[in-house]
Amino acid sequence: MGGGDQPILDLVPIVRRVVGARIRDPHLVDDLVQETLARMMAARARIGDETLVPYAIVTAKNLVASHVQRQDRDRRKAHLVADPGSEPGPEDGVLGTERRQLVAEALRRLPAEERELLVAHEVQGAGTASLAAERGSTAGAIAAQLSRSRAKLRVEVLLAERTDRPPTDRCRPVLIALSSGDRRRQQRLDCAGHLLECDFCAALAPALLDRRSGGSANPEQRVRVTRDADVVAARQKGREVAAGVGFSRTDTTLVATVISELARNIVQFAERGEILVCPVEEPGRRGVMIVARDVGPGIRDLAGALTDGYSTYRGGLGLGLPGTRRLMDEFDIVSEVGKGTTVTTTKWLRDRPAARGRDL
Ligand SMILES: [Zn+2]
Repeated sequence: MGGGDQPILDLVPIVRRVVGARIRDPHLVDDLVQETLARMMAARARIGDETLVPYAIVTAKNLVASHVQRQDRDRRKAHLVADPGSEPGPEDGVLGTERRQLVAEALRRLPAEERELLVAHEVQGAGTASLAAERGSTAGAIAAQLSRSRAKLRVEVLLAERTDRPPTDRCRPVLIALSSGDRRRQQRLDCAGHLLECDFCAALAPALLDRRSGGSANPEQRVRVTRDADVVAARQKGREVAAGVGFSRTDTTLVATVISELARNIVQFAERGEILVCPVEEPGRRGVMIVARDVGPGIRDLAGALTDGYSTYRGGLGLGLPGTRRLMDEFDIVSEVGKGTTVTTTKWLRDRPAARGRDL
C-alpha cells in the first residue's frame, strides 16, 4: 500500500512489545496497541519518519500509565489528578472553572507582549489585520506569532496542572517545539532523544501531539474503509462518539471492538466501504448507532454467517457476526449478492438516571 500509514503499521511489533511487557490481559493489550496507532496517525503530520519509533514507545508507555492511573483514580474518585493521556470526555465541561484558572495561571507565565496579543485576539476578538496595523506589523506575522504563543500557552497550561517542575532546562523548549509542531526545531532539539530519557516530558507529550483539529460540532463520524489502517481510524472514531454519549470505559471498548470487527470484514471481503458512527436518541434513552456499508460480493449464506462456528465468513478474532450481534442491542443486516452488505447495529446506554429523568 502506498499510503502514508504504512510506517505506522510497521510500528505494531514494537508497540505490542511495550504494551505486552506491562499489561497481562490480551484484549486490553490489543486495545492499547490500537489506541497507540490511532494516536500516532493523528499526530502523523507532525512527526518525522526518523522519530516515529521513539514517539510510538512514548505514546504506548503513556497510554499504559494513564490506563493504570485511570483505574486507580476511578477507585479513589480523585478526579482532579492531571491525566494528559486521557481523551477529552463529557467531564471536561464540569472541570471548566478549574480549567479557566489553569489558563489564567499559564497566561501569567507568558511574556507580557505575547499575553497581551493573545488576550486581544482570543478574548477581545481583535482580528490579525487590526492587530498588525496597531503594531506596525503584517497580518501574517501576527498570525504566526499567535500560533507560537498558543503553542507556549498549551505547554504552560500542562505545566500549571502539575505539582512537580520540569527536571531539566531542555524540557520547556522541547515541549514547546512539540506543541508548535515545528519539525525542524524538534530535530534541532533532538526531541525524540529527550523523550526517551525524560519521563516528565514523555508524560506530557501525548497531550501536545493529540490536539484535534475542529470541534465536536458534528458528532457523526464517517470513515472510509479500504485497508487495515482504516480499521484503526474507525475504531478510534467510534470510541470518541461512544465516550461523548456517556458510555462507560468498558462499553466504549465494546463499541470499538464491534467497529473493528465490522471494518475488518470490509477490508477482508469487500472492495471498499464505510463505517458511520453516530449518537442516537429516543425518548428516555440514548445510544450509539453503527452503520457498516460495503460494495462487494455480498454474503450468500446470510443465515449461516449469523450462526456460531460458521468459518468461511471470516478468520481472525472469531467474534464474527454472531458475536457482534450478541454484544449489541439491535442488529440488522441486509446483503445483496454481487452488490454489497449493510449492517446497522445499535447499543443503548443503560441505567442512566439523567436520561430517565428527562423523560418524566
Ligand atoms: Zn524533559
